[in-house]
Amino acid sequence: MEKKPFITLEQAQRIIADVPTPFHIYDEKGIRENARLLNKAFAWNKGYKEYFAVKATPNPYILKILQEEGCGVDCSSYTELMLAEACGFSGQDTMFSSNVTPVEDMQLAARLGAYINLDDYTHVEFLERVAGIPETICCRYNPGGVFSMGNDIMDNPGEAKYGMTEQQMVDAYKKLMAKGARHFGIHAFLASNTVSNEYYPTLAGILFELAVRLKEATGAHISFINLSGGVGVDYRPEQPANDIMVIGEGVRRKFEEILVPAGMGDVAIFTELGRFMLAPYGHLVSTVLHEKHTYKDYIGLDACAANLMRPAMYGSYHHITVLGKENAPCDHRYDVTGGLCENNDKFAIDRMLPEIQIGDILVLHDTGAHGFSMGYNYNGKLRSAEVLLREDGSHKLIRRAETPEDYFATFDFTPFFKK
Ligand SMILES: *Cc1c(COP(=O)(O)O)cnc(C)c1O
Repeated sequence: MEKKPFITLEQAQRIIADVPTPFHIYDEKGIRENARLLNKAFAWNKGYKEYFAVKATPNPYILKILQEEGCGVDCSSYTELMLAEACGFSGQDTMFSSNVTPVEDMQLAARLGAYINLDDYTHVEFLERVAGIPETICCRYNPGGVFSMGNDIMDNPGEAKYGMTEQQMVDAYKKLMAKGARHFGIHAFLASNTVSNEYYPTLAGILFELAVRLKEATGAHISFINLSGGVGVDYRPEQPANDIMVIGEGVRRKFEEILVPAGMGDVAIFTELGRFMLAPYGHLVSTVLHEKHTYKDYIGLDACAANLMRPAMYGSYHHITVLGKENAPCDHRYDVTGGLCENNDKFAIDRMLPEIQIGDILVLHDTGAHGFSMGYNYNGKLRSAEVLLREDGSHKLIRRAETPEDYFATFDFTPFFKK
């Protein structure tokens, strides 16, 4: 699909007068419309709930918007649980899908009454020891091998650190039942950023059949199946977009085909989407500081990989729009870079763009998930502000930019200043 920014040059200039670049901006209208469509796509399932993966965009204003749209949250750490609690998510509005879990994290999840998703068989005894076994508990499944759809290899679960084998699921359920658990969930995350309407239905088929076998083998009551994250977005303009209505209908068919005949039509479907919920509704807005012409033509931004790590880390494509030059011909070839002392700090390599001048404002698209949240402080770079574009077109600062004081806050300088 054609990539159009959700802000104009004039809007950006107004916001920049208030909040200097670089900043991440989120589109409230887009977030709400998309969340409503997701809920519509799964409305056929009585207990359906999306638990937004907090790690994608851990900002309370964003979580509140999603809460108003009926979503819960998926947390994986102590501070994410604290954020959920602060935003007023109750126990059953929170999934806790962690791995290599510290004692304190597990205890906080238990205290909040979150659904706990055990990553390993050994975590049954771990949980019993540190917090006790709750009435409802979830186990994470890993089928091993490679995960393919048709002729396409989608991902490699056999190499993934997460989840349990089927036999371990059976043993964990039996052990949990013996220790008082009465209702069970199944969770699996088999492929990331899928741009295919078939991923969720295929995964659902695998998990629904597993649910039937687990019920037969253990007699456990399975109350929910969590399809987790992995529904992706079309980062590249030439990619097709996922159609969530088609995806929801595909999952419904598997449900009718497998669970209903097994007498398991009361199973609730949960999702833990992050990228799909937020990525397209975020932009990283940045100003051109310098241009440089050596063996290649470089455009240097006031943002860097510390503000958006995905291109440096995964070689990911993020579309770029030069605001005000939306209709200019893309007849210049640039490397668009940040200022880290790392040559992988490039948002784009050999990208065809309109001719760029110093002071131009660039929008990096699809940065609403796994964007700000993967930020870091390398080279002493400070984390940027986050801004919310409200439905009425006004903007609100929802996280201020870091200052040098924040960067130095974890040092104690007093020994250096002793007289
Ligand atoms: C990261 C993650 C998600 C969200 O993944 P997306 O690719 O953003 O949809 C959901 N569940 C778990 C357990 C995760 O680790």
